[in-house]
Amino acid sequence: DFLANQIAAGEVVERPASVVKELVENAIDAESTQIIVELIEAGIQQIKVTDNGKGIIAEDLPMAFMAHATSKIYESTDLFNINSLGFRGEALASIGSVSKVRVESMTEDDDSRHFIEIEGSKIIEEGLTQAKIGTTVEVNSLFYNTPARLKHLKTIKTELSHSLKFIQNIALAYPDIRFKLTHNGQEIFASHGNGNLQQVIASVYQPALARDLIPIQSESDDFSINGFISKPTLTRTSKQYIHWIINGRSVKSYMLDEVLIKAYGRQLMIGRYPIAIIRIQLDPRLVDVNVHPTKQTVRLSKEDELSELITQAVHQTLDVVNP
Ligand code: ADP
Ligand code: MG
Repeated sequence: DFLANQIAAGEVVERPASVVKELVENAIDAESTQIIVELIEAGIQQIKVTDNGKGIIAEDLPMAFMAHATSKIYESTDLFNINSLGFRGEALASIGSVSKVRVESMTEDDDSRHFIEIEGSKIIEEGLTQAKIGTTVEVNSLFYNTPARLKHLKTIKTELSHSLKFIQNIALAYPDIRFKLTHNGQEIFASHGNGNLQQVIASVYQPALARDLIPIQSESDDFSINGFISKPTLTRTSKQYIHWIINGRSVKSYMLDEVLIKAYGRQLMIGRYPIAIIRIQLDPRLVDVNVHPTKQTVRLSKEDELSELITQAVHQTLDVVNP
């Protein structure tokens, strides 16, 4: 119901970037290879996410906005074996309770594209529109009915930077997907979607920086890691350039940051940090993403094994450059 959805929205939908995150993750779960995010006024006025994924069948369209409507968990045991990004089934319901939403979708099996419009959790219009497989979700007037939350938003510039950062991080996690982000009609980020991580790094930072990074790769019984790290001479003054991607999820980890920094050891000057984009693959049962609804923090089993693997891999990689 509406109230429960608004309460859930308090946890999941904090700002435009939270909406962008939920919609883009849904698009990825739907196996899209192309995702376009269009923001007007940093998304406060409008967030539009268009994908070419498998779509939602017409009769499920109203259902998608019901709390705990998820097509992604079939049994309770699945909670411990999560491969998709979404699984709580509350994002669309939450978003629908604090904005005016329009969703259009069409699957391979449909012969037309359906749309539905929701305002404050209520369906206000449904119909047909021009055929095209995939889904478009348009979120208008975010927080129009929760003025307190609207008031807490920061400047356009700050809100936009949150969405940009999210899109860049997810593009790094999914080099096979082509991402595009526009603001007020102007392109501000794009990735190629050709599977090349180094090219995504070039889009996020500069091509020259991407070229200077060194590949890192290693595996142990439970983990496999790969990505790029910087030479000890190519450093930054903040940890912002350290990215961890665990099973396709971009996460923050103070613990892993420290392991990485320690692995560089004395090669790193005081107050300087390496650049690193490291993907970690592991059995989903060894990672608990259920710590927080936004799933940005994770808890790992076998942290020691992973720390050891990262340390060894960094040493080996740096030895090659600087024997
Ligand atoms: P969750 O992602 O946790 O399952 P959501 O509230 O985000 O829950 O979405 C509800 C459901 O709507 C999803 O499980 C999925 O079936 C469907 N859905 C949402 N967005 C898309 C999309 N872009 N493409 C296909 N299906 C979608
Ligand atoms: Mg979702």
